[in-house]
Amino acid sequence: MVHLAKYIVVTGGVVSSIGKGITAASIGRILRSYGLSVTAIKIDPYLNWDSGTLNPYQHGEVFVTDDGMETDLDLGHYERFLDSDLPGEANITTGKVYMSVIEKERSGEYLGSCVQIIPHITDEIKSMIRRIADRSRADVVLVEVGGTVGDIEGQPFLEALRQLRNEEGHENVMFVHVTYVPYLRAAGEFKTKPTQHSTKELRSTGINPDMIICRSEMPIDSSLKKKIAHFCDVEEEAVVNAPDASSIYEVPLVLDSENVGEYIVRRIELDVDGGADLSEWAGIVESLMVEEPVVTVGIVGKYVELEDSYISIREALKHAAAHLRVRVDIEWISADDAVNEEDLSRLDSILIPGGFGERGIAGKLEAVRFALENRVPVFGICLGMQCMVIEFARMKGMEGANSTEFDPETPYPVIDMMEEQKRIKNMGGTMRLGSYQCRIMKGTLAHEAYGTELVSERHRHRFELNNEFRGELEEKGLIISGTSPDNFLVEMVEIEDHPWFLGCQFHPEFRSRPNRAHPLFVSFLRAALEGSR
Ligand code: GLN
Repeated sequence: MVHLAKYIVVTGGVVSSIGKGITAASIGRILRSYGLSVTAIKIDPYLNWDSGTLNPYQHGEVFVTDDGMETDLDLGHYERFLDSDLPGEANITTGKVYMSVIEKERSGEYLGSCVQIIPHITDEIKSMIRRIADRSRADVVLVEVGGTVGDIEGQPFLEALRQLRNEEGHENVMFVHVTYVPYLRAAGEFKTKPTQHSTKELRSTGINPDMIICRSEMPIDSSLKKKIAHFCDVEEEAVVNAPDASSIYEVPLVLDSENVGEYIVRRIELDVDGGADLSEWAGIVESLMVEEPVVTVGIVGKYVELEDSYISIREALKHAAAHLRVRVDIEWISADDAVNEEDLSRLDSILIPGGFGERGIAGKLEAVRFALENRVPVFGICLGMQCMVIEFARMKGMEGANSTEFDPETPYPVIDMMEEQKRIKNMGGTMRLGSYQCRIMKGTLAHEAYGTELVSERHRHRFELNNEFRGELEEKGLIISGTSPDNFLVEMVEIEDHPWFLGCQFHPEFRSRPNRAHPLFVSFLRAALEGSR
């Protein structure tokens, strides 16, 4: 049977970084609260095939899906707000669209025709979107278009979405435009002109928005909304204000108070019984706002200037804090500079995140040593776990121990490239990616945290604990608490006689949800709280 989905397309205007992804995810959350099933698509109009090869400074964290796609961080917001695992194909890039069209052209699928942006690229975009709608069988498909309207790279996507509205019917597709309404302090007033201009830009592509969501620093009043409705040709009740909120998780509640759900339900004729029930979500938001007690976590990383680089870790810590009803304060510590012991000694716990390349390694190793010597809870994720193993080995007399990623000549290559990785030449999408099972050893900290023997976690790495040194490290006191089910790959390490020292080769942060805090983060914060200074 053909699946009939409703589509909500979210575009952005005026400036970037106004929280278009959070706004779209919040709409999704509201619709979920009506009992509807919702899935999300993020369109990234850049040419990269995926975001795996992008520096975190460019686009923030690379989010990894269950099925092993390296995607935009907005997919993380969608998974957290919708509480569902998205497929990697939910991140559509210009690179993927063109690659697919060119492959078809080479295989002769368009024999005889001149291959063009319209119709071939736009058809490809529509079929990618429809395929996701079909496979998910969701009632509502959110489609967020990255960038701002007017960007050259975004044009084919807007054109495809305009066509999609005509083909699917106006009652099945709606457009939501997210803009920014600046407040001019000198003039003492809000300015709607940028919103008018960007709506005009959107309309020049043939798309009339059905709803305008105005982001602003402070609430705007109804006369301003009226003005925007008038100039942008949108119904008055479809001009919505979303002023800055103290937490991103509050946004669904803000949009709900502006009756966003009701308007959408009516506009695209969604089949619902009753209204949205956001009480569970409101409860989560309440626990995320707990002020006391406070527990501090120092994140020792090399991309700390841009918090978005570690966004899933930051959110996972918040979820765990809400679960324990405490507040977590994160201190961002640059691993580039010599790590200052005084800074570290003020912390209740230390977290060492993932990363690539040698820069910042010395700082991370120092932080591990500090945590070992001062019995501070320490959590190492991916590269962080590798640093734990390296520093542990060095402290136990294996001088010069290292990962071959940083020192190919090290006398003790305790971390080395996985065998299957050695043959790989291409850099894109070739790491060990996505969900793999991990078997947990009974009687360990890991087992105590998870309370189960088999877990599934997402990965993104090329290097691993070197099996040649496994025995020697174990003799020296390293506990291998998690391995792949065939016992070949070490997935988790810990040591005895320390309040909380645990490293994992996978990225637990990608599976944490506001309503389902991740067990490792909960266990880590609990230990930090117990030893809290
Ligand atoms: N660079 C390390 C590896 O490839 C760690 C990767 C990571 O932290 N995501 O194994």
